[in-house]
Formats: sequence, C-alpha cells, structure tokens
Amino acid sequence: MPQPQLPEPAHAQVDSMLSRKFGKEIANYFSGSPLNRVSFLRTDHAFLSAALRHPSTSFLLFNSLSPLARDPTKLEYASFKDVQPLVGDDPYSKNEEQMVSEYNSSVTVPQLLFLGLDEREKSGFEWTIYHGSPYFALDVTPKGTICSTAEKLIESMKSRGLQFVEGRMHMSLPAEQAAIYAQARALLDWNARNPFCAQCGQPTLSINAGTKRTCPPKDLASLINTTSIGSTTATTPTADRPDCATRKGISNLCFPRTDPTVIMAVVSADSERILLGRQKRWPKYWYSTLAGFVEPAESVEEAVRREVWEESGVTLGRVVIHSTQPWPYPANLMIGAIGQCTPGGEEILLKHDPELEDAKWVTLAEVKEALHVGTSGLGEEAGEGYKEGGLRLPPRTAIANQLLSAVTGGFLEGGNGGSKM
Ligand SMILES: [Zn+2]
Repeated sequence: MPQPQLPEPAHAQVDSMLSRKFGKEIANYFSGSPLNRVSFLRTDHAFLSAALRHPSTSFLLFNSLSPLARDPTKLEYASFKDVQPLVGDDPYSKNEEQMVSEYNSSVTVPQLLFLGLDEREKSGFEWTIYHGSPYFALDVTPKGTICSTAEKLIESMKSRGLQFVEGRMHMSLPAEQAAIYAQARALLDWNARNPFCAQCGQPTLSINAGTKRTCPPKDLASLINTTSIGSTTATTPTADRPDCATRKGISNLCFPRTDPTVIMAVVSADSERILLGRQKRWPKYWYSTLAGFVEPAESVEEAVRREVWEESGVTLGRVVIHSTQPWPYPANLMIGAIGQCTPGGEEILLKHDPELEDAKWVTLAEVKEALHVGTSGLGEEAGEGYKEGGLRLPPRTAIANQLLSAVTGGFLEGGNGGSKM
C-alpha cells in the first residue's frame, strides 16, 4: 500500500533563530490537524447548537471505533440531516447546568464530540470572531435505548456504498484526515471506557462537547425506578445520589487521558551504529527502535535511559527530544528522542526485562538502506527492491522511522535530518 504524505510542519518557511539552531520542526503522522479546536467554546451551547445544525457541518461517524469511510484512504462524513434521528433536533438545547440537574442514567445519549472549525473553508458559518466549517464526531455503536435508531443509521450509510473501516488501516489516510480521525478516535475511546466515576462507581455524564465527564449529584432514573415499585413505598422518592468526592473541591471533573510514551533512536558512543530491537510477534527481519511508558515522577530523559537499560542492558548518556507523535491506540503521546551511549555502555543484555526477543547494533549504512527499501506497516509486504533476509523497518507514518531517518540523515552532525517528502 502506498504510504501517505506526512503533515507539513507549521510555519515551516518562517526563518527564526530557533529554526536556524535546531532545523525545521518535524511533524509526525496523526498530528497536523487542519481544525481550530476553539476549546473555549465547548461549554457555549448556543455556539454548539448553531455549529451542529449548519449546512456545512461534517459528522465523522464511528461504529465500535471504526470510522465511516469510502475506502481505507478516504474518510466520509455524514450531514446533520443524516444524524438527526439519532441525536435529536438539538442535543445542545440545555446548558451544562441543566443537563447535570436533569441527568437520567436510564436514557442512552449517543456520544457526540465537537472537533473544531476548518477555517480554510468559507462555508458561511460564523460565530463572533470565529468562522469555518464545523466538524463533529458521533459514536453510532448500537446500544441501550438508541440501538434500533443507530442500526438504521448504519444501514443507511452502508446503502451508500460506505463502510466502517476496522483495524489500523487508517495509517493509509492522507495526513490531515488522519489527524481528524485521531482526535475523534482518542476521545470516543476515552468516553466509552469511562462510563462510571472512578471515585464512587456511579454512571457519569459527558459534558464539554465530549471532552470531560462529570458525576451528577442526582439521577432521575432512580426516581422512575422508585415510582415503578408502586405507591406503597414508605420513603419519599428521591433522585439524590450518594455523595462523591469529585463533587467537592475545585477540579471536580474527569478529563481524557494522554499517556506519555518514550520512543528512542539509540546511537553508539562512536556514532557509527544504531540499536534496534524486535518483539517475537513481529514479522521476520522486522526491527524497530525501543519504546516504553513514562512512569510517574520521571523525566522524559530518565524514562528513555531506564527503558533502554531495562530492555537491552545498554547505558545511555545524553538524551535529546526530537519530535512527538499523537498515537490514538488508545491514548498515547509518543515522545521521540535520540540518545547516545556512554563510552563502553553498548553491551547488550536482554535478561533484565524479557520484552524483546532480540536487540542488535546495526550500522548507519544498513539502516539507511532499509529505510529506502525495507519499510512497511506491520502485516504488509516490504517495499519494492527489498531482498529476503534484509533488515525491515516501520513505515514513515511511524515516529520510529522519523527518528532513524534523522540519525542517518545528519542529526548527529547538527542537522535535524528529518525525512523528506
Ligand atoms: Zn462519583
């Protein structure tokens, strides 16, 4: 499958002291969204209401986290008219305070997200000083009280020749589409995984246009249940829920997670070789850079040194951050780094942490050759010109590829060595 273009770094042509010293900024796949998120408008329900119903508005639908698409290279969007039977005439008619006070856990509310405005599109949608075509994401997974309406919507999309594309084929989307998809997928996944309050275990309510969740003090569902038991109940029906610590204090909301992960190109002390590792489940000859989660109370540089030592036994000295990549599977921010061995610290020892099946030092020339002919996604064939037995590496959409390109492209000599289009 042809690899998509990477996003263009912001303001790439602007000369500045920083760009002269550190080179061009590197933008990785899944970043570079064309949308202005105008996050401060997420509580403004008059804005959301107008944006939702504007004729230029696009809805990216997900069924069990699979996005609506024409094929794996092109997302497709629904209109307000398409989604109206599911979301209703105006899901933002009440403000957040009313939504919280009228919360009813027995009613399934389809998860809706406001993603942002595409300001490049002169669509006629304006709100105070902001303009552009609005983008929303909607979870149409059939469940609860919306099951049959969601199924009908899914069928109507399929009857147009569209599909909900499963798996990670979204690595084939054009960069801007991939960034919109990543934002939507990460937030829908987080909402789906957090239907209950982590503090008290009661159901939570999505607010802030899908970017926060709250634990309401009342639930009308309990009132309905009490009434249905019959009039003989001795206690007065109440919608009050048990106390929850999240309703006290200042930060009483649940926020989406972003989990920092380090991924690093490791260079030998003499700058001649790169350390690569492989996991057992990967295809034959397929290697990549080492990676791991940042732990609480640990700097990024410390996490890089710790992970490399734990997985390979190699000792790193100086570590620099190269670039970062949002990774929506499910909530990672990959922090790409380049680290160099301390003199004599290159000895490989895999017995600390058995995560890797193998780790080895590879010359810069061999890595450069593999970047040229041996890259592919996991599960795909290697590129044209690849010869069986040669080194295989991740595709350009993965930050590992960018890090290796940087090291083989002159990063160590002071250039930023980013891969070219
Ligand atoms: Zn709670």
